[in-house]
Amino acid sequence: MQTKEYLQALMQNIIKKDPAEKLFHQAASEVLTSLEPILEADPKYIKYAVLDRMVEPERVIYFRVPWNDDKGLTHVNRGFRIQFNSAIGPFKGGIRFHESVTLSSLKFLAFEQTFKNSLTGLPLGGAKGGSDFDPRGKSEGEVMRFCQAFMDELYRHIGERTDVPAGDLGVGAREIGFMFGHYKKITNKFVGVFTGKGPSFGGSLIRPEATGYGVVFFAEEMLKCKSEGIRGKTCIISGTGNVGIHTAEKILQMGGKVVGFNDYDGAVYDKEGLDQEKLAFLKDLVFVKRGSLKEYVKKFKSAEFHPGKKSWFIPCYAAFPTACENELTLEDAKTLVNNGVKIVCEGANMPCTPEAVDLFQSKGVLYAPGKAANAGGVAVSGLEMTQNTIRLSWTREEVETQLKKIMRNIHSACVEEACLYNKPGDYLLGANIAGFKKVADAMIAQGVI
Ligand code: GLU
Repeated sequence: MQTKEYLQALMQNIIKKDPAEKLFHQAASEVLTSLEPILEADPKYIKYAVLDRMVEPERVIYFRVPWNDDKGLTHVNRGFRIQFNSAIGPFKGGIRFHESVTLSSLKFLAFEQTFKNSLTGLPLGGAKGGSDFDPRGKSEGEVMRFCQAFMDELYRHIGERTDVPAGDLGVGAREIGFMFGHYKKITNKFVGVFTGKGPSFGGSLIRPEATGYGVVFFAEEMLKCKSEGIRGKTCIISGTGNVGIHTAEKILQMGGKVVGFNDYDGAVYDKEGLDQEKLAFLKDLVFVKRGSLKEYVKKFKSAEFHPGKKSWFIPCYAAFPTACENELTLEDAKTLVNNGVKIVCEGANMPCTPEAVDLFQSKGVLYAPGKAANAGGVAVSGLEMTQNTIRLSWTREEVETQLKKIMRNIHSACVEEACLYNKPGDYLLGANIAGFKKVADAMIAQGVI
């Protein structure tokens, strides 16, 4: 069978087996399409049915999470852990608490995570977990009881050498603390079973900043290839979560100008750009007060608020989607291109729709997929695991230096693979092939398991 036909048949089979899993189809289709050249070049991958195995999770854990609210009423949510691939290391990936969480969304994220983790160069397999529980609007006690109930089941499936969860949407240091504490209580073990822990109980410095910082390091590498840099460039960000805020912080540190960002309520257009005072206000607003961006425009008169809008209408040189999947559509991409965008670097997982990506690539906009550009978070999680194993803590400088090195290596791997397969500048192809190769070769070496 020809490679193209093989890939088409595989994709059809995926759709036939789970017709409702649209997000997983989208992620699988993007990867399969770009792997065609490597499958053509080396017949062993088809011979050993590597891809057929790779699109099936090694294990899916699906459980009930009952918990009581502050009034004593009982609620039930769904809990999941998708242990996708452990060929190159223990399962690793975040936990997401959000009402949109389904088996399909977590399968897509765990599949992506497998390639992302491979790209870091660290020994990390791919996984993702979560629940359709939404921490927004819940009291601290409710969030804690939910985390404990979630852990009452999950604890038996994870371990520092088996599966090491971390945070994701809706799961930050607070939730990790509650889950880690409950794991410790049930198992009577103090081990590095989570990453993203508080610094006083084994968390790595720079872990909260790592994804955002890494995104900007990656963008800087991309721009370097064009003899450019982030300094002096106008940037916009979507999402003001952990990734968005730290992307803004690093852009600022590197001399760029952040003129637009948005949250659930709408977009802020601040032509004068963020400065240290505004960033400090934003961090307090988002991380401490958990408030709306409307407060930002009340305080800073240089800024306009655009209710219900995302940042994409704001003219910029660089755009950083850091919120969630499919947040940047073809229409948004057209607006960005018409306004002269030169680089789009994904801080979230799969935030650009396939049509948007096609447009960027056809118009010569530099485009980096999340699995390469946002790998800094899980990379520092890998460094946290190392620190836990050797029972030492590294300084901020040490961790940031290593993060920068990892992001540079990921960038080089993408560029090299894209060149090897005659698609220079195609970071999507480069990332998929580089991520795939390491996992696929390990699977072949380990036999049919
Ligand atoms: N949730 C993050 C990601 O998408 C971090 C995962 C981790 O640190 O394990 O990569």
